[in-house]
Amino acid sequence: MVLIYNTLSGKKEEFNPIEKNKIRMYVCGPTVYGPAHLGHARTYVAFDIIRRYLEFRGYAINFVVNITDIHDDIIKRANELNINFLELTEKFTENYFQNMKSLKIKDASIYPKVTDNIPEIIKIVKTLKDRGYAYETEDGVYFNVAKMADYGKLSHIKISKQKTGTRVETDKYEKEEARDFALWKKQKPGEPSWDSPFGKGRPGWHIECSALSTKHLGTQIDIHGGARDLIFPHHENEIAQSECRFGKKPFVRYWLHSGFLTVAGQKMSKSLGNYIIIEDLLREYSAEEFRFFIAQSHYRSPINFSKEEMKKSRNSLSRLNEFIQRLLDVQKAGELTVKKDVDLARKNFVKEMDYDFNLPKAWVHLFKLESIINKRISEEKFTKEDSDYAIQFFKDVDSFLQVFLFEKKLFELSAEEKAFVDKRNELRAQKKWAEADVIRQELLKKGIELTDTKEGTKWKRI
Ligand code: AMP
Ligand code: ZN
Repeated sequence: MVLIYNTLSGKKEEFNPIEKNKIRMYVCGPTVYGPAHLGHARTYVAFDIIRRYLEFRGYAINFVVNITDIHDDIIKRANELNINFLELTEKFTENYFQNMKSLKIKDASIYPKVTDNIPEIIKIVKTLKDRGYAYETEDGVYFNVAKMADYGKLSHIKISKQKTGTRVETDKYEKEEARDFALWKKQKPGEPSWDSPFGKGRPGWHIECSALSTKHLGTQIDIHGGARDLIFPHHENEIAQSECRFGKKPFVRYWLHSGFLTVAGQKMSKSLGNYIIIEDLLREYSAEEFRFFIAQSHYRSPINFSKEEMKKSRNSLSRLNEFIQRLLDVQKAGELTVKKDVDLARKNFVKEMDYDFNLPKAWVHLFKLESIINKRISEEKFTKEDSDYAIQFFKDVDSFLQVFLFEKKLFELSAEEKAFVDKRNELRAQKKWAEADVIRQELLKKGIELTDTKEGTKWKRI
């Protein structure tokens, strides 16, 4: 049984999808006007692990991620750059896909774009208006929040019925209440637009997710995800639109929200100069190292990115990969004796993951198993059978984490690298320490660390 923390109830709930063994899952996608950044990486890796884990647990998932390719920020940026908004969004949609691939994030079943679905959006806006949930002003169509009795149930925020108070007198374009939100924005000079019964214009931000999840997953879905910042107003407004349009059964059964990522303790922003894009991240770290870093935290926790934290992750992952290499090296013939230990680790790991994807606790069981096995290998009580059995557990875990290396060859030195190590040993034998150290430094620059031990020089990739 899988338990999932549902933002809507504020509790962990037993997970029961609408259709047995099938999941309808939707995660809010990126607004494509700039390169994908570390915040995107955090959120989409976290949901990739959740999605892959649920697949590992036997569910077939229909997974939808929308592409927000029309938005105030997009129009603003395109105007600043003096280009057509499509030029901008096509470039950064491609950039998003490439970055997700680089981070080993599994493709969604579909990535619908907002601009490909304008008629679907208009239809919902029109119905909401016809049924009295929305009203038209001179600058758009607004959702009338007062019409939704349980508005605020997701964010648990009490939003006062503050009147803008300006509508009649000075600003006839104003919405009636501050908390009302735009479903349709009428065209202003120079803005892209589509025809609609409410005049030329474009959708407000929130309506796209109600329209696209309904189109691809039906009027009720199992899981809807996004980072915490989307709880209010975005997801609150999605609920209002969908439930007023399609009926009072909950639009979403389980609302999942991931924690925000900060950089060196601060919110990422261009003005602070701590804005890191994924391409730059991957110049310094591998996708596996970053995923491992994300997987150290609970998906709901905030996460702080720093060089020190990444160094720690790199070291722990490299130790685990060395351990897997050690397993791959075992050739001793004999019986399977480690089954009980591996089965227990697997059972406990899965138990923690079933409890709202509690990775930090799950890791404990994997590390426990590692130390049991290490001891057994040192005592020469570990067989090839044992090693194969243990590796299968690591492979299963990796089916959703995507962090480990199982190929032996990745750890072998190339002929050229080996020649360097031999040369250095020669120099050391001749007591030419300084020259030997130059080679050591050269290899270090290539990511190979040498350690001199009683049994000779050992090396590892760092
Ligand atoms: P956007 O491209 O701004 O529409 O965001 C796409 C997704 O990335 C949303 O779920 C955002 O909440 C999420 N996101 C943006 N910045 C961060 C961040 N710093 N940490 C975690 N998630 C983020
Ligand atoms: Zn959304």
